[in-house]
Amino acid sequence: MGSTKRVNSHRILLTVVLVLTCLTLTSAQRRERTVNQWKPVHYDVSVVFDDQLSQIKSALTEIKVEVLESSVTRIDFDFGDLAIDSVRINDAPAKFNRTPDVLNVSLPRPANRGDKLNFAITYHGRPKDGLVFANDRDGKPSATGDNWPNRVHQWIPSLDHPSAKASVSFTVSAPQRYEVTANGKFINVTGNAATSHWKFEEAKPIPPYCMVIAVNEGAIINSPDKATTNLLYNVPKRDRDYASKGFSPAAPALAFFSQTVAPYPYDKLALIVGATRFGGMENSGAIVFTSTLFDLRANEKMSARFGIPTRIESVVAHEIAHQWFGDSVTESTWADLWLSEGFATYFAGLFTQKYDGEDAFREYMQSAAERYFAYEKQRNNPIHDTDTEDLMKLLNANNYEKGAWVLHMLRQRLGDDAFFRGLRAYYEAHKEANATTQDLRNALEKASGQNLRAFFQRWVYESGHPVYELSYSSAEFAGAGEFLTITLKQTQAGEPFLDPVPIEITSGEKTRVVIRPESRTASTRVRVKGGATSVQVDPDGTLLKEVRTPSTS
Ligand SMILES: [Zn+2]
Repeated sequence: MGSTKRVNSHRILLTVVLVLTCLTLTSAQRRERTVNQWKPVHYDVSVVFDDQLSQIKSALTEIKVEVLESSVTRIDFDFGDLAIDSVRINDAPAKFNRTPDVLNVSLPRPANRGDKLNFAITYHGRPKDGLVFANDRDGKPSATGDNWPNRVHQWIPSLDHPSAKASVSFTVSAPQRYEVTANGKFINVTGNAATSHWKFEEAKPIPPYCMVIAVNEGAIINSPDKATTNLLYNVPKRDRDYASKGFSPAAPALAFFSQTVAPYPYDKLALIVGATRFGGMENSGAIVFTSTLFDLRANEKMSARFGIPTRIESVVAHEIAHQWFGDSVTESTWADLWLSEGFATYFAGLFTQKYDGEDAFREYMQSAAERYFAYEKQRNNPIHDTDTEDLMKLLNANNYEKGAWVLHMLRQRLGDDAFFRGLRAYYEAHKEANATTQDLRNALEKASGQNLRAFFQRWVYESGHPVYELSYSSAEFAGAGEFLTITLKQTQAGEPFLDPVPIEITSGEKTRVVIRPESRTASTRVRVKGGATSVQVDPDGTLLKEVRTPSTS
């Protein structure tokens, strides 16, 4: 996801900090709706819309389920409050009952591990969320899926957790004037002068939050650049003229990520401007961007390369990167969300590095660091967050910006060759499936031969970042010349960071040394000529850190 707004840094009252600290100390570990007794294998979703797209006239979702334990007596689907018309198991009527957000279907006889069951659930109504009914920017009706993190069960009975990946096919029936887009391969459109039936099939397992349809009266524009995949845009008619320019980073991003990681995982890519509460939502093969994407703002920073705001370039590259990281390799738990958002944020940075140059990349990473510092002042959590109950609060600068920085620091430490080789191995091992933070560490350790336990422990499983206090003084040693003693003291809360810290000393000429901390305080002594005029910590910006210089008397 791309966020619509960035939270500004505010100083918060000490009392608020204390309350938050108490909540953090007393909060229990988050319970997640992970796969246990059964898993969905395939969803076949048919939806019939009314003329004005005000509701689902009728829907049929068929779900192939695989049973994972013995003596299972019921299947508990996540499902919102749409009216149910019938529930069948293997073509026979089934008993069911409902509790808030759950549809319990009783099995006629206990099922055992390996059993396959076919459910058919018919229902109708206007979902309260997940499938958003709204007028588009032309004032025309539209219906657009927007499911992150667990809102798809408001319109599709499902197991609504990213670990429950499944293939999906859609049949959407709507009045003939509407265009329909969905995940997967476009199969066909049939029907008559009044109604069209659109069929799409996504054969690869995708996370439930990525299952999407978009129904609207917008324009369809086929990109002439189909070198990587079938690329098309679906935008309100008012955006038709700008769409090709606005989405011009898309084809290069598809090509660049394909070369850097692996072939593009899906059959096509539709870029849709529609209804989403996010800046962009990375639905597999059918990304939805906010309706204001192409509203140009005064004094926006522009990309010289694409002639569009860097805001648009970044979010387009970010959502496309998710097709590999997030959609194909999906986080196993919400605590691993940075494997999705940190990767998408960093790969959008890599795209900037390739197409806009080193200075633009440095600026991108620097502003990412600043957003994270502002966030961290308000909330001091690890990236690997097993506590936060409100999943929307996981869309934070830890998972996005700090996650991107963790990847950037791993790249510096391992070198480009081992880093990208490790990422490709990680992708290959977990594509069309799920991955944990540990899986990433294993792949990078194997590619580099380095032990990354301490790095992951401090940067991902613990909170914060190094705050270095730099001090230095020079002294003359009889007969040996002048030496500069440089001391770095880490003043942040928690354990020290043991990352090597490059230091640049200017004393007439520039000299570089590396300090390798083993505790909070580390120092080195360097021979200088004529005193140092300046000492700079991490001159190339390879570490996520803050540096303070104590005032000297
Ligand atoms: Zn994202």
